[in-house]
Amino acid sequence: MKPEEIIRDPMDGVISLDSGRAVRSAAYGQRASKLARLMTLGLPVPHGFALSFECVRELAENGEVPDLAGMEAPGRLLALRSSPYDRAWGGAPTLRCIGVCERSLPALENRIGRSASLDIYRRFIGEFAMTVHGLDPQDFQSLDPAAAASADPAALRGLIDRMLEFYEEEIGDPFPQDPRVQLEQGARAMAKAWNSPSSRILREAKGAPADAGLGLVIQEVASGFGTGVTGRGEIQLVDSRTGKPGYFGSFRLIDPDKPTRVREMPLAAEDAECGDEAGLTLEETCPGALRELRRAAMRTAEGLSDAYRLVFAIRSGQVAILDAHPVRRTARAAVQISVDLAKTGAISRSRALLQVDPRSLIEYLHPQIAPNAHRDVFGAGLAASPGAATGRIVFTAEAAQAAAAQDEPSILVRVETGPEDIRGMHSANGVLTVRGGMTSHAAVIARGIGLPCVVGASDLRLDFAERTLTTPDGRVIRDGALVTLDGTRGEVMAGSVEMIAPELGGSFSELLDWADAVRDLGVRANADTPLDARTAREFRVDGIGLCRTEHMFFDEARISVMREMILADCDSARQAALDRLLPMQREDFVEIFDIMRGLPVTIRLLDPPLHEFLPNAPEEIAEFAEAMGLPIAQVTARARELSEVNPMLGMRGVRLGVTMPAIYDMQARAIFEAAIAVNRDSRAPVVPEVMIPLVSANREVELVKRRIDAIAEDVQREQGSELTYKLGVMVETPRAALRAGDLAATSAFLSFGTNDLTQMTYGLSRDDAGRFMRVYVNQGVFPEDPFHSLDIEGVGELMLMASQRGRAQNPGLSLGLCGEHGGDPSSVRFCKVAGFDYVSCSPFRVPIARLAAAQATLLSRSQTPSGPSET
Ligand code: PEP
Ligand code: MG
Repeated sequence: MKPEEIIRDPMDGVISLDSGRAVRSAAYGQRASKLARLMTLGLPVPHGFALSFECVRELAENGEVPDLAGMEAPGRLLALRSSPYDRAWGGAPTLRCIGVCERSLPALENRIGRSASLDIYRRFIGEFAMTVHGLDPQDFQSLDPAAAASADPAALRGLIDRMLEFYEEEIGDPFPQDPRVQLEQGARAMAKAWNSPSSRILREAKGAPADAGLGLVIQEVASGFGTGVTGRGEIQLVDSRTGKPGYFGSFRLIDPDKPTRVREMPLAAEDAECGDEAGLTLEETCPGALRELRRAAMRTAEGLSDAYRLVFAIRSGQVAILDAHPVRRTARAAVQISVDLAKTGAISRSRALLQVDPRSLIEYLHPQIAPNAHRDVFGAGLAASPGAATGRIVFTAEAAQAAAAQDEPSILVRVETGPEDIRGMHSANGVLTVRGGMTSHAAVIARGIGLPCVVGASDLRLDFAERTLTTPDGRVIRDGALVTLDGTRGEVMAGSVEMIAPELGGSFSELLDWADAVRDLGVRANADTPLDARTAREFRVDGIGLCRTEHMFFDEARISVMREMILADCDSARQAALDRLLPMQREDFVEIFDIMRGLPVTIRLLDPPLHEFLPNAPEEIAEFAEAMGLPIAQVTARARELSEVNPMLGMRGVRLGVTMPAIYDMQARAIFEAAIAVNRDSRAPVVPEVMIPLVSANREVELVKRRIDAIAEDVQREQGSELTYKLGVMVETPRAALRAGDLAATSAFLSFGTNDLTQMTYGLSRDDAGRFMRVYVNQGVFPEDPFHSLDIEGVGELMLMASQRGRAQNPGLSLGLCGEHGGDPSSVRFCKVAGFDYVSCSPFRVPIARLAAAQATLLSRSQTPSGPSET
């Protein structure tokens, strides 16, 4: 029977790699499956067989290697390789050159010469003894190191004889001279090694199940010796760092007289992976082989729908493909590779979209620490806003501003930030806080402005008076020290660290264009300023889903008017201050509407408790009182009046609108006047969406809506222009979610503020959770930080219920999410499945959300292409 005729049923435990039948990884392991697929693609893979997990299990219990149709006949040299389900799970190293023995030596000598044959025999005895009996190959080599290194046939023969004697002494049996016995003992040893306790522990640590099986591949040896150009190497046609095309890999040319002596050479002159002192390349040495390898790599990419690194051998100029691994890649390379494969038709655009992890797009948007850079990490916290920055430590917002004025990069360190730090944050290159979670002030603002940020680094002790940070092991980092912040990993390091620059355009924007063509879930931005709106437009958003108006009042020119308004002791004084705020607020909206022409812009009415706008420190209070011409005591008393035990659950959001309606009146007027002004030239009119925060009862909405509708009417009449606007509410309290049916009757849209909704559903402070979040996640209390990735089981259920109740009441109701979860891929997928219209996230997370939305659409259409290429 010819070897090709052995095509057994897979259940039989042995299958020929070129049978043309599927060799499943689940039964034969990944290597066997991959080799069989390469053979189907017509690649020159050495002939061989795969033994199933079942068959190898029997071997471990002293079963026999099945009949391989004479493959192990004298004269053939075989390689025995491990083939677990997942390569990462290990398996014994390959045993090569099974079949070399006294009987086969003459034939081998005829083919490749005496000295090369003896060298192979010598090496095989050592490797066999190690694989089968656990002997150290060095013990053999040390019998006569000079002979082992020599190419002299007589010396080698002498060494082999001594090795054979040593083997027999150590093992008690002569070295097996029958190829079938060599194969059987080798395979059985590999099977037993797989079951050893240490192998089990190691693979289980990598996620292997307790009963994970091992397959084996038995193949003809394709390399290692021969006349002419002979050797082994690896090739890939894309750069692992950038994904750009080229030659990457190397070739190890084997000395024909001494197969263990190799010389490494690059594949071609432009091969960036390997240098060669002599300068000789494979392209110069054997151009035909390089051409064939190139074709093989291209064929593999097409056939297996991904870029692969091929392991190859060349024997006397003939190419053989020994293995293929998906090319290792950085996030940038992943995008480039997927786009290029789709463009060449090797994969579909859908597959390209599904192949890229949306989170990896972050690498394009911000500078990142170079993958191999040295990191002297002295602190860690939550990775609140991605990207990396190097600068000198400063401890106040003013110091950050002063550093920026001198063009000196700085990292602002605070216990936590507040509104008064915003200007400093804009000036700093990175922010580090000791307290705070993923939705703390620092985290939200930093993500919004694309600033690297680490929050909740609670192991660091901040001494503000001394201006120092102290690590748990006593290291002291002082004001002005140069540090590097990695907001992608949540680490802070001493000194400057090598970075890679951000890069937009090219394959990044091409992939996102494809995503936009596919997705049916809107992606809007949370943008508070014209600068944010411009960034959002650059990232091609579908609108603004949340404009937090409070940030506009922290501007230096406005904060004092805002404070005047807050401190006013009568309605007329309050109104006078609001009248001064009106044009400022209108100006902001005009600019934002103008930037966002043709797109919806959702503006949230004032949300935070008023005390946040008041000065805090005694010297600030004194300064402000003096500027206002008020007694310090009056300012202090009013501040005290406004202070609350639990401000996040106090006078904020719609509660301000109900109790101090003049504030919302002013804001609504500013919005409508701005919209009419921008729409006057009739180019792509803007549709303002007015949003009421922190609602918990429909009556709140009715009260605010009545006044806002009246103001809209007034403004339209005064301006002699019509305006389309919408009014909606934020669902941020569990009660609002439960009563979404009522709310939907008065609202055009519901936007889920999942930061507050998560906080209130769990009863978990979003500003303090950072302190224990790591412990909670590490101990599996939460699978992930629920402020980062939506808690689908709890908060998600509330959202589903609310959306169903809302739509039942008002089928035209628009549904959105505007918490930080809008930039988290799994939360985006949830929104798609729940039938939402859009998600809204920080501008710098818009690309992530666009790709995640496209993936959600593709997955929901069940158009998932065949699974990952590693089968
Ligand atoms: C929210 O609570 O999810 C939200 C978007 O509002 P903020 O973060 O401003 O409280
Ligand atoms: Mg909120």
